[in-house]
Amino acid sequence: MVVINKAQEMTMAALSVLNCLLKTVQAARANDDAHVWMPASSFPDELRDLGVAALIRDDAEATALASADFGNVSVAPPPAAVLYPSCPADIAALLRASCARPSPFPVSARGCGHSVRGQAGAPGGVVVDMPSLGQLGGGSTSGRLSVSVEGQYIDAGGEQLWVDVLHSALAHGLTPRSWTDYLHLTVGGTLSNAGISGQAFRHGPQISNVQELDVITGSGEMVTCSKEKDGDLFDAVLGGLGQFGVITRARIPLVPAPTRARWVRLLYTGAAALTGDQERLIDVECGGTVSGLMDYVEGTVLADKGLIGSWRSLSPSSSSSSFFSEPDVAARVAKLAEEAGGVLYCLEGALYYGGAAGGESDVDKKLEVLLRELRYARGFASVQDVSYVGFLDRVRDGELKLRAVGLWDVPHPWLNLFLPRSRVLDFAAGVFHDILRRGATGAMGPVLLYPMNRNRWDSETSAVFPEEEEEVFYTVGILRSAVSDGDLGRLEEQNEEILRFCEEAGISCVQYLPYYADQTGWQKKHFGPAKWARFMERKRKYDPKAILSRGQRIFTAPLA
Ligand code: FAD
Repeated sequence: MVVINKAQEMTMAALSVLNCLLKTVQAARANDDAHVWMPASSFPDELRDLGVAALIRDDAEATALASADFGNVSVAPPPAAVLYPSCPADIAALLRASCARPSPFPVSARGCGHSVRGQAGAPGGVVVDMPSLGQLGGGSTSGRLSVSVEGQYIDAGGEQLWVDVLHSALAHGLTPRSWTDYLHLTVGGTLSNAGISGQAFRHGPQISNVQELDVITGSGEMVTCSKEKDGDLFDAVLGGLGQFGVITRARIPLVPAPTRARWVRLLYTGAAALTGDQERLIDVECGGTVSGLMDYVEGTVLADKGLIGSWRSLSPSSSSSSFFSEPDVAARVAKLAEEAGGVLYCLEGALYYGGAAGGESDVDKKLEVLLRELRYARGFASVQDVSYVGFLDRVRDGELKLRAVGLWDVPHPWLNLFLPRSRVLDFAAGVFHDILRRGATGAMGPVLLYPMNRNRWDSETSAVFPEEEEEVFYTVGILRSAVSDGDLGRLEEQNEEILRFCEEAGISCVQYLPYYADQTGWQKKHFGPAKWARFMERKRKYDPKAILSRGQRIFTAPLA
């Protein structure tokens, strides 16, 4: 939806102002800190001389749109201009122009701006609007998605949405293996982070499921890389927070697709029982009774009355076997929560079947074992039968409902953490049973809790995850929306309190989709000495002038 609107808007704009280059450059906001590059008066002329087919806009509407994001938490300093590329060469030309300057200007690729803290911004510089790739100059979105049935892969433009990748692959009975929960994110955007969801325990994050990339480095060089060719650049870019290059194409491996999913939700009264079961499920090599029976394993925490009360609204419209359909479900769940001390947990899983994934009788047998062996609160199980696409794209329904009532564009002060397995119960006690329950907020949104197998993550990539001895680590997503006056401040304070709690309790967590206000935070709190040294070394190689993705606030000036 976003892409189509933008495309239409862009086509109209292109007709009237294609190649109408900057007349004026807005001065970057005076109150911002040192990482703002101040455009010189010659900047518009330089852009004018690029000689690219791309549309460049510097009007307030374009720059405001390019500096806004899903977080809606802080106002990022706007870019001086937005580049709507018609092809990757336009981006390369822009980067070469920046690089050639004695004082280079910042450039950031922007997928859909689903970041929450201005990470896709380019303060005072140029934001590259990735979705317009292929749409100007007579191209089409579908032209940048190409399936090889023989090779069992899809080539996807970095600007493509995962939902479109899914549909293109399914047209050939194929599918990628690793997903995010929400599919309306761009390929380049999630590969710059990690791309995680309930399949990652088995297949690893999306960055573990890439064969080849086309990348444009900070100096404007266009490189095709893979583990075998220019492997260091390939690894740097994956999970690289946009610091080493712009991803313009990713080759994603495909496998034969299932057609259906049994979607299971089970309520638990304690974190120990939930995490114990989750770990049994994801231990695919141990051969236990339930190990590997689910294809998707996640979990949610229902830590406040609002969430517990609204649980019924998650109810499916058609359920094959579900306590949702019982008339007194809300009262029963509330009673269970009271007995459990106010906090409930939900294991959310799926078993794929149909097509390449086996028949219905197999899935029935597996389900029987799961419902017998797992330690959920008896009587609180919901099982639904849905299409594979319906399951993967389920968050879209929620988005449309929230949009309809004006609750999609509210502030989202999200906090995502990776925690070592050995401390997850300490975290649950301190955060789910204490901090999140203190001080009522009207905030809404899920709190996720699910485990990963570390051996499915590649430590050569730039992604940062717990690498201690433990084989399992947890993802915690505190994904709340500020819906009433005062919520945002209270939620930000709670986030700070959670981070302080971890520090004081010695829980060595790292942020996923990280945000730090300055380089010291990145260096000390996120990367640590060894990973920081490698990150710096890669930055020196691929973007020494620190042109790319300054909105991440990792580098604010060219490296010495
Ligand atoms: P943007 O926000 O536009 O960009 C993010 C960063 O990547 C920026 O630094 C940008 O400069 C850089 N970048 C963007 N495109 C490129 C490119 N082509 N090449 C190089 N750098 C680039 N994440 C998960 O892992 N799992 C989930 O289940 C999940 N669910 C989400 C649900 C919602 C509703 C939202 C809003 C986000 C979710 N995310 C999830 C987070 C998501 O992965 C990140 O927001 C990610 O950045 C993708 O968003 P985007 O494509 O809009 O990228």
